[in-house]
Amino acid sequence: MRRGRRTVPARIVPGSQIVVVPIGSWEQHGTHLPPDTDSLIVESLVDAAIERLDADDFLVAPTVAISASDEHAGFPGLLSAGTDATAGMLVSIARSASTWARGTVLVSGHGGNSDALSQARARLDGENVAHTMWWPRTVPGREDDLHAGWVETSVMLHIAPDLVDLRRADAGASGDAAELVARMRDGGVAAVSANGVIGDPRGATPADGRAIHARWVDGLVACLDEACRRWPPR
Ligand SMILES: [Zn+2]
Repeated sequence: MRRGRRTVPARIVPGSQIVVVPIGSWEQHGTHLPPDTDSLIVESLVDAAIERLDADDFLVAPTVAISASDEHAGFPGLLSAGTDATAGMLVSIARSASTWARGTVLVSGHGGNSDALSQARARLDGENVAHTMWWPRTVPGREDDLHAGWVETSVMLHIAPDLVDLRRADAGASGDAAELVARMRDGGVAAVSANGVIGDPRGATPADGRAIHARWVDGLVACLDEACRRWPPR
């Protein structure tokens, strides 16, 4: 699968394209995955989804590679813009696109952006800026696999196996997902996991990653398809 910068259409035709903004992050993903795991995953989802649609309908923005990751405070490698700055940036991006594009789809590969997305949505709704949001949902039966565990490691083995070091994969926190999230809200990832992993990456396989990736792409295709119908070319 292709990695790195995608091709941006040479022509920007006002009123004809929907802007798709991939949002990643830069934070520890254990010792077996790279810090830009979320960016790589979200870019691959956007690429695969648009391949199934009419590419002329979309313009893929550069990836937002640093976002709201303050929950990883204390772990080396963190670069975070924080929730307020991330929300403000997403609002500004969608607002600027609204002057010439049909609308903006914000696609977040990082769960820590949920508050930033909520803030951005409230502000954009208030300004009647055409936008929608999508993010990959947790995998049924793996709800507590929240960070650098079986899910993300499997998907990375599918899209970028050369960037995964399974020999260094160790189990992290496990337990009730809602309780883990509540404890993280207070004390960050460090409050629940000494090694930064939430879930268990051991046993991850590319075949599982392919299946998860395909399900997520289906969801994103549906979102983009709906956006095309909601915001016709003008
Ligand atoms: Zn991640």
